[in-house]
Amino acid sequence: MTQPVPQCDPKANYLAHRAEIDAAVAAVLSSGWYILGKEVSAFEEEFARYIGVAAGIGVGSGTDALLLALRACGVGPGDGVITVSHTAVATVAAVEMAGATPILVDIDPVSFTLDVEKLADLLDDYPVNFPLAKAIVPVHLYGHPADLPAIIEIARRHNLVVIEDCAQSHGAAWDGRITGAWGDMAAFSFYPTKNLGALGDGGIVVTDRADLAERARLLRQYGWRQRYISEIPGVNSRLDEMQAAILRVKLRTLDAENSRRRQIAALYNRGLAGAGIELPAVRAEVSHVYHQYVARTPRRDELQQFLHGEGIGTLVHYPQPVHCQPAYRDRLRIHGELAQSERAAAEVLSLPIYAEMSDADAHTVVESIRRWAGTAK
Ligand SMILES: *Cc1c(COP(=O)(O)O)cnc(C)c1O
Repeated sequence: MTQPVPQCDPKANYLAHRAEIDAAVAAVLSSGWYILGKEVSAFEEEFARYIGVAAGIGVGSGTDALLLALRACGVGPGDGVITVSHTAVATVAAVEMAGATPILVDIDPVSFTLDVEKLADLLDDYPVNFPLAKAIVPVHLYGHPADLPAIIEIARRHNLVVIEDCAQSHGAAWDGRITGAWGDMAAFSFYPTKNLGALGDGGIVVTDRADLAERARLLRQYGWRQRYISEIPGVNSRLDEMQAAILRVKLRTLDAENSRRRQIAALYNRGLAGAGIELPAVRAEVSHVYHQYVARTPRRDELQQFLHGEGIGTLVHYPQPVHCQPAYRDRLRIHGELAQSERAAAEVLSLPIYAEMSDADAHTVVESIRRWAGTAK
């Protein structure tokens, strides 16, 4: 049983592009070439052009994109990588997959992204028992960019590389400059529910630097430049032809779909003003792509239960900060208290949002929340 108002609906996005996707898939099937062929090359070029950088390297997932970006930048055992705890576990898992040590900093509670003052504090007074930091991985959570100008400035001052986690920010921008074009490298995920989603797993690493692009390209396939000759130890993480063909179709409408997400967000902002829950803030410099529309309230669980009863799907991104999860608890290096990350985990609720969602469904969500809050109009 699907809910009357689902939290997200990747099938609706497929149906919106059905004829083109079916034709693209059929063409791949009958081409006889399924791995690293002309669809992947074309998509890599088109996506790199969309971001405005020189190169894209298609890989197996967003997690792998982070891993290969870290490794391409020379991050490995003995190195510290600074990131946040209020993120998808993939961000932190990728750092450990690279053999490096995650160092977690708290978030700014308004944007839910890396607190740049705490980042500067950490680096200015670096703990002697922490492994030397080599990289910063800002996460543009929910589609709202982290404070990129400040992060890049701090990184330059401390000689750190910046790898942007753009898994939730396809098309988002700060001061008109798109996320993915700021750091030394950036990692995108094409998990089906992302703003640009494949119909399976996929990811891409993008960079303007030819040396880093070359290393990432070698790393994704056993370190091969020439087939069967490994120049460096690599992995197998390739975007496949089918997903690349599908992504080429969907990339053409990404901007229009992001605009539609912004329309729904605007409808929520109007409808829920004064309803007694905290609505997502947007920094003046930012073009938000609303991968999620995240409200917050200390009565989050109660609100989620109520909406579930009304047939409205919601999700919590994420119910536990990474440093509190069983696999990581008491084991990760953290800078000070991560109080804002812990408070966010207890209060955030992602309301339904996806490009194909109707205004009528968004109004249903608004009315239900207002009834719950006792602020019905
Ligand atoms: C989805 C996501 C990832 C991982 O992407 P996968 O393609 O699922 O491996 C990494 N970071 C963030 C912030 C994500 O949302």
